[in-house]
Amino acid sequence: MSTLYEAREVLRRVFGHAEFRGMQAEVVAEVLGGRSAMAVLPTGGGKSLCYQIPSIVRPGLGLVISPLIALMSDQVAALQQSGVAAERLDSTAAPWERDEILARLAGGELDMLYLSPEGLMQPAMLARLAKMKLALIAIDEAHCVSQWGHDFRPDYRTLGRLAELFPGVPVLAVTATADARTRADIRQELRLAEAAEFVDSFARPELQLAAERKTGRGRARVIQLVKARAETSGIVYTGSREGADDLAQALRDEGIPALSYHAGLDKGVRAERLEKFLEADAAVMVATIAFGMGIDKPDVRFVIHADPPAAIEAYWQEIGRAGRDGQPADGITLYSSADLAWALRRIESREMGPEVKQVQVRKARQLYAMLDGNVCRAASVRRYFGETKVEACGVCDICISPPQSVDATEAAQKALAAVHRLGGRLGRARIIDHLMGKTKEPSDREITLSTWGIGADFSPKGWRDLIDGLLLEGLLLEDPNDGRPVIGLGDADGVRAVYRGERRISLREHLEAHDGSTRSGRPKKRTREAMAALSGEAAALFEALRAWRKGEAHEQSVPPYVIFHDKTLAEIAMLRPADLATLALAGGVGTGKLERYGQAVLKVVREI
Ligand code: ADP
Ligand code: ZN
Repeated sequence: MSTLYEAREVLRRVFGHAEFRGMQAEVVAEVLGGRSAMAVLPTGGGKSLCYQIPSIVRPGLGLVISPLIALMSDQVAALQQSGVAAERLDSTAAPWERDEILARLAGGELDMLYLSPEGLMQPAMLARLAKMKLALIAIDEAHCVSQWGHDFRPDYRTLGRLAELFPGVPVLAVTATADARTRADIRQELRLAEAAEFVDSFARPELQLAAERKTGRGRARVIQLVKARAETSGIVYTGSREGADDLAQALRDEGIPALSYHAGLDKGVRAERLEKFLEADAAVMVATIAFGMGIDKPDVRFVIHADPPAAIEAYWQEIGRAGRDGQPADGITLYSSADLAWALRRIESREMGPEVKQVQVRKARQLYAMLDGNVCRAASVRRYFGETKVEACGVCDICISPPQSVDATEAAQKALAAVHRLGGRLGRARIIDHLMGKTKEPSDREITLSTWGIGADFSPKGWRDLIDGLLLEGLLLEDPNDGRPVIGLGDADGVRAVYRGERRISLREHLEAHDGSTRSGRPKKRTREAMAALSGEAAALFEALRAWRKGEAHEQSVPPYVIFHDKTLAEIAMLRPADLATLALAGGVGTGKLERYGQAVLKVVREI
């Protein structure tokens, strides 16, 4: 009888780890008991031990199915180093190698065998395995079985047969990303209806998430964000190869050691740049999603999406490459309604079934809803992955500076009506001109439309934000029209609901970071709230501290909250510290900040 006690012993002896982490022990215990299970553990959460240890402890061979068998070489090599008889069979194996592995398999000498789904499902392989005792079958990247997942692989569908082919052998499905729908699909496809489900926390408290609508291509903003993080390492993701090369060059022109990385580069060049990046103290990699596997650099301090990822799954995976060492790191995403339009068009142009397209469209929309929403970003992501009882992270841009929203339903009705009247043939600027009654040389027809000039009380920037919001909500649709985008009505039911006032539209007063001119100022309302708790004298000091912070933030090109949160400034204002030791008592003043800003803050206190 295999027990968790034995498993722990193997964990220590073979793998050298003192204790199981997170949900590992629970998953291992379930499989040791001979029961199938599904485990959704975040990247780096230690999924592989969940099947490696039961493979060793339980009698028989542990089979591991992975779509990326070629990438399993490190895992297999590490197992061999630890004295585990593990092998992998893939199409790249030389015939003699293959024969040797098969002979050892037949002789019962292997503890573990890694296979791709096609490799496993070959009749000859199935016949061989049917003669053997199996400890378990682990299905890695199990979300690939689901059309609802972000990485559907038709090969994976065949794995549903395993349940009949190997009755009584526990199946362990593991993945790092699966929303609720995908998890249900995994269960159904892999015949895991009865299996216990383990969803570990996706919390990454060290990550400080932020998202900003971008103006234009957002390039200047990316350069500003990277420069503000000079002397640290980071990754900037772009949507295209040219974008990666251009941006890397632009960063180098600014004196930042940036390299580009994408699938269009020679294999040798890529390997060389990866190595340079991994070894550097401070380096910036500007990359497409081709840059992903094997980046285990612990001190990546920021991941910036110059163009947004495809879905929340990819978002979390990519952002997750920052802060592996557990130290604070930034995950900043720049997005625009044009990015969404482009993503939707790309999905449309792909060759896949309408159902799969629908899923991808939904996933893209969910991502933009999160980016443009006003819910704690980390909490949104964690709920998306099926976690319950999630609390706000307290460190993302939304938590730190909740966007104020104002009701803009009436204005939205006007904008939708204008788009409707204009027939969906005009771009954003022309629609705004129309609403404001400022069109240069308008046609007679345009002037007679009921929507002509009905929006003069709103600024053009306000209209732009509103139209962007409507685009992001799918109420308007942008047709890229070969570089001369035109805007038409989107989801008809939604539009009707807005006309009737059943669906309210709110306009977000943007986070300071959006707009260079207001970056260091909090929305006025919040300042008043924070100050309400402060007495007259403390309030004056609080204001002085904020003014100091504004200058400091401006100088460093960082958002003010990076220096000190309002909460910290309020505490300092109440403490009125005369020396560093007292200042250190304020929450949010660590030794680093004390060293950097301590004297300056004391000076502000003295002068008030
Ligand atoms: P995943 O496949 O979930 O991304 P891995 O299985 O590759 O994660 O494990 C990630 C890292 O965590 C590895 O370096 C592994 O050695 C380490 N690790 C896994 N489990 C433990 C544990 N119980 N204690 C300490 N380190 C662990
Ligand atoms: Zn948050």
